[in-house]
Amino acid sequence: MVSSAGWSWCNRVAGSKNHKAVFLDRDGVINSDRGYVSQWSQFEFLPGVVTAMAQLQALGYRLIIVTNQSGIGRGYYTEGEFAALSTQLIDFLADHNIALTAIYHCPHHPTEALGGYKRDCDCRKPRPGMIIRGINDWQLEPEVCALVGDRLSDIEAGQGAGIGHLFRVDKTAEHDGVTAVTGLPEVVEYLTAINDAQIVKEH
Ligand SMILES: [Mg+2]
Ligand SMILES: [Zn+2]
Repeated sequence: MVSSAGWSWCNRVAGSKNHKAVFLDRDGVINSDRGYVSQWSQFEFLPGVVTAMAQLQALGYRLIIVTNQSGIGRGYYTEGEFAALSTQLIDFLADHNIALTAIYHCPHHPTEALGGYKRDCDCRKPRPGMIIRGINDWQLEPEVCALVGDRLSDIEAGQGAGIGHLFRVDKTAEHDGVTAVTGLPEVVEYLTAINDAQIVKEH
């Protein structure tokens, strides 16, 4: 039996009352995208990412991962392996005082997946299902949220969910309404400036 959204992890004690979050794609944003990363030994953080996540948290953003994982549906690795890798990531970040709020993943693929995983689901990006679920689960205001992805499908999912600030980790991919960045550290610079401007406005 395959559940509609697969395994997901939510930190029910995540202490922030803030209604803003940064939605993070995983592969190509947090870790280098080697294709179907399924083991902690293959998980290589991109430069400055851990510090940047701590800084985003300090700015009051929840951190929520939204990741297409069709490798599960294709039979390359299991839900259990994905959950184990996710747990290692959660524990590693916790050791650095970073509390993820949630990880949502889509194990499906409309044509290439096996059995019940082969479906035209609402969660696979570019569809916004995982992001909308996060907005509802954590009572977020999408217009003050940000999304960081490396592919156009990430950006389209963010647009579909009405996310206010869209960043693409691809300097060659500047387009309307999207800020191209070299990586998560540059996102911190933009969001720090936005939050500083907000504080000035409120005073
Ligand atoms: Mg990616
Ligand atoms: Zn899906």
